[in-house]
Amino acid sequence: MQDDQLSLAYLLQYGARLHANAEVATWTGSGTRKSTFAQVGKRSAQLAHALRSLGVTGDQRVGTFMWNNTEHLECYMAIPAMGAVLHTLNIRLFPEQLVYVANHAEDHVVIVDGSLIPLFAKQLPEMKTVKHVVVANGDPASLEAPSGVTVHSYEELLSGRPETFDWPEIDERSAAAMCYTSGTTGDPKGVVYSHRSIWLHSMQICMSNTMRLSDEDRALVIVPMFHAMSWGMPYAGFMVGASMVLPDRFLQPGPIAEILAAEKPTFAGAVPTIWQGLLQHLDANPQDISHLREVVVGGSAAPPAMMHAFEERYNVPVLHAWGMTETSPMGSVARPPAGVTGQQAWEYRYTQGRFPANVKARLVDDDGNEVPWDGKSVGELEVKGPWIAGSYYGDADPEKFHDGWLRTGDVGKITPDGYLTLTDRAKDVIKSGGEWISSVDLENAVMAHPAVAEAAVIGIPDEKWDERPLVAVVVREGRQVTAEELREFLADKVAKWQLPENWTFVEEVPKTSVGKFDKKRLRSAHADGKLD
Ligand code: ADP
Repeated sequence: MQDDQLSLAYLLQYGARLHANAEVATWTGSGTRKSTFAQVGKRSAQLAHALRSLGVTGDQRVGTFMWNNTEHLECYMAIPAMGAVLHTLNIRLFPEQLVYVANHAEDHVVIVDGSLIPLFAKQLPEMKTVKHVVVANGDPASLEAPSGVTVHSYEELLSGRPETFDWPEIDERSAAAMCYTSGTTGDPKGVVYSHRSIWLHSMQICMSNTMRLSDEDRALVIVPMFHAMSWGMPYAGFMVGASMVLPDRFLQPGPIAEILAAEKPTFAGAVPTIWQGLLQHLDANPQDISHLREVVVGGSAAPPAMMHAFEERYNVPVLHAWGMTETSPMGSVARPPAGVTGQQAWEYRYTQGRFPANVKARLVDDDGNEVPWDGKSVGELEVKGPWIAGSYYGDADPEKFHDGWLRTGDVGKITPDGYLTLTDRAKDVIKSGGEWISSVDLENAVMAHPAVAEAAVIGIPDEKWDERPLVAVVVREGRQVTAEELREFLADKVAKWQLPENWTFVEEVPKTSVGKFDKKRLRSAHADGKLD
C-alpha cells in the first residue's frame, strides 16, 4: 500500500472542495452569520499567509483565546495545515494557569476574540514568548500592547492575501495541536495531538458505533473549542461535510434554546451541566427540539434522570460518552448492542460506554494487577491506543503512565462485552468503614428527585467511619425539599449504610473551568466551615 500521510492539510483541502457548500453558522446574539467550508478553505489560506508574515515557521505554537466561531474554525484548519501547532488556550483557566500554559507552550502568536480582550490583556505582559496578538471580531486599538508585542486586526491581516496556499507535506506523526488539561488535579498538563491521531479520531467520530456524524448533520458544537478539541467535532465535520452551528459566547440556556429554534441542528455535544440548565429552561419555556436526532453528553457522568427527561419529554436521545483531554478525547461511547431494547438498553446507555477498536482498556488494582471484565470487579482504568497520550509535553509525569498505558485516574468496572461503568475519580472515592461509596451513584440518585436541580457529593472526615458522604444540593427554582425528604427518597435506591446523613443546600455547585462539579472547592469550603 502507498504510505500516504494522514495530514490535516489535506483534510482542509478535501472539506473545502468536496463539501464546499457545508455551512458554518456562528450565532451573533440575535441571528447567525454564515460561511461555508469553501470560504473557510480560502480564509484559512489567507490566515496561513498572514501567520507566515508574522514569522510563524516550523512547529511554532500559535495560541487561540476564542469562543466557538468561524474564525476559531479557520485557526483550527490553517494552523496545523501550515505545519505549525494550534494551542487552544482555555479562557476559563485561573490567570496564573493561563500564563503558565502560554509560557510552557512558548506561544509565538495568540489570536484573541475582541470580547475577551479585558480577560486576556491582564495576563499578556507575563506571556514571555508572545510577539504578536491578532484580534478577531473586535478593535485591536482596545488592547494596550506591552513593549515587544505587536497587535493586529484579524481581518486586516487576512485582507488581500492569496486564497490558496502551498500547503506543505507533513509527516503524520508531527504535532498538529495541543491542549492543556483543565488542571482539576494540579498544574495543567500539555497534551500534543498529531496529524495522524486527529485523523484517526475524526474517522471514529463518524462511525456508527459512536456519534455517526455525516453530511446530513448540522452539528451544534457547544463544547468549547478551547477544551479537549471540542470533542473532535470540527475536524470530523470537515471529514464528512457536517455543517456546524457555533454558539460563540452565547452559552446560557436561553440563547442555546434560541439557537436551537433558529438553526434546527440535528446533533449537539456538551457537558451535563449545560444540558441540565437547558432542561430547566425548556421545562419553563417549552419548545420543540425534536430536530435533534441525538445529543452527546460527557465530561462528567450523565445523570440517568436527565437522559430520561430529554428522551421522554423532548424526544431527544442522549448518548453518554467518556473521554479525557489525554484521549483526544473520545474514549468510549454508550450505544447498546444491536437488538437490545427496553430497560436492558437503558442499562447499557447509563454506562460510560463501549470502547472502539482503537482504544485498548484494562482495569488495574492497587497492586498493579489486572482485574477481570466481569461487570463487578473494580479497578483504575488504563487505556492505550493511537489517539491516547503517551506522555505530557515537556513534563515527565511517570505517575500518569504505566508500562505504556495511560493511567486515567478513573475508577470503575467493565462488563464482559466491554462496557465501562465509572464509579468515581480515584480522588473522589468515598471510603466509609473500609467500603467504597460511589459519589457518582449518589449524585445520580439525588438528581432523580424532581425538586433537585443539581447535587454534588464529597467525602468528609468522620471519626467513626473515616469518611462519610456530604451532599450539596441545589433546589430547582420554585420548588422546596428537605434533607429528610431526600433521605426518604433515597431509602430504596442505595444501600442503607450508604445513605448520607450530611446534607447542605447551596445556591450553586462550584464548577471547574469546563463546567464540571469542582469537588476540590467543595472540599475546601467544607474544611473552612463554609458548608454545614
Ligand atoms: P480535567 O481532567 O482537567 O477535568 P478532562 O476534560 O480531560 O479535564 O477530564 C477528563 C475526566 O472527566 C475523566 O478522567 C473523567 O474523570 C471525567 N469524565 C469524562 N467523561 C465522563 C463520563 N461520561 N462520566 C464520568 N466522568 C467522566
